[in-house]
Amino acid sequence: MDVNLGKTIKNSSNGGNMYDIIIIGAGPAGLTSALYALRAKKKVLMLEATAYGGQILNAHRVENYPGIESISGVEFAKTLFHQVEKLGVEIRFEPALHISEDKEVTTNKGTYKGRSIIIATGAKNRKLNLDREQDFIGKGVSYCATCDGPLFKDKVVAVNGGGNSALEDAIYLSQIAKKVYLIHRRDRFRGEEKYAKELEECENVSFVMNAEVKALYGSSKLEKITVLKEGKEEELEVDGLFIAIGQEPKNEMFSNVIDLDEKGYILSPDGVHTKTPMIYVAGDNQVKLLRQLTTAVSDGSLAATVAIREMKNQEE
Ligand code: NAP
Repeated sequence: MDVNLGKTIKNSSNGGNMYDIIIIGAGPAGLTSALYALRAKKKVLMLEATAYGGQILNAHRVENYPGIESISGVEFAKTLFHQVEKLGVEIRFEPALHISEDKEVTTNKGTYKGRSIIIATGAKNRKLNLDREQDFIGKGVSYCATCDGPLFKDKVVAVNGGGNSALEDAIYLSQIAKKVYLIHRRDRFRGEEKYAKELEECENVSFVMNAEVKALYGSSKLEKITVLKEGKEEELEVDGLFIAIGQEPKNEMFSNVIDLDEKGYILSPDGVHTKTPMIYVAGDNQVKLLRQLTTAVSDGSLAATVAIREMKNQEE
């Protein structure tokens, strides 16, 4: 997958040090903000810690985006990124570490000044926080079936979680792996019934319900997991464990300029503004009713439009 460019794209036509809008995060919300801002001829800097695309990269198929019947998450991210790239976006693959009240963003490589800032940091995959979980990342433990699934052809894997992501991951992996255990902590799935039904029909999928993954074992790579099921410990020999237990935000480093709820989501009175003038929020990182691709792009377009309008008001 070539979504993690890992290299800076500089827009040579934009001289000077001050950006109109600095967008933190290149997921669907941030990229849509960039699309709107660049089409309005604003000078934009995008900062992205890892890869463009955000969580949509984990979606095998997106089939609820109006106007597009079916598309893979990776294809959606690439198309949106190329749309923004063609408009001449400047993107730096640097994590934003701090935002000052006078709108300076500090990364691990430098400090950038903006007239406005859009925080579109999305949410990160939740971890089980087990011993050795970190060590086994890339050695059996994965948070992205679309990215890593093909490495497990004809192997035995487990998926942990009961939401749509876990169910979709299990369906996808059942087409690649020899055997898939779907481990969920309750007796009912949170995800859609139709996915659960599809999985029931898969001969190589076993449900392990009312169960929690408790330990990971292996020498140089994952070989075995322990599951606590209804008070009893069971061992499962697996080559891979796909953890799909939801997401959580990571906004604490900006708490001097934004308010957060107890779970770390950004509080906004209207889904756009934060407590600091000219610093806006877009996407899954905020308190909201629905976190979907449609709502992320909606947030992104709104944040850019409001930022542009409020910059214009400042000029008048
Ligand atoms: P989610 O809906 O929040 O589900 C997370 C699952 O992980 C839940 O089943 C939860 O169990 C379980 N879980 C949470 N913490 C856990 C822990 N510490 N240990 C074990 N299990 C744990 O997350 P998601 O599946 O990533 O989906 C996120 C959003 O994206 C949802 O709105 C979803 O509908 C959407 N989505 C949509 C599609 C699609 O439309 N095709 C595809 C993927 C995702 P409990 O159920 O017991 O709480």
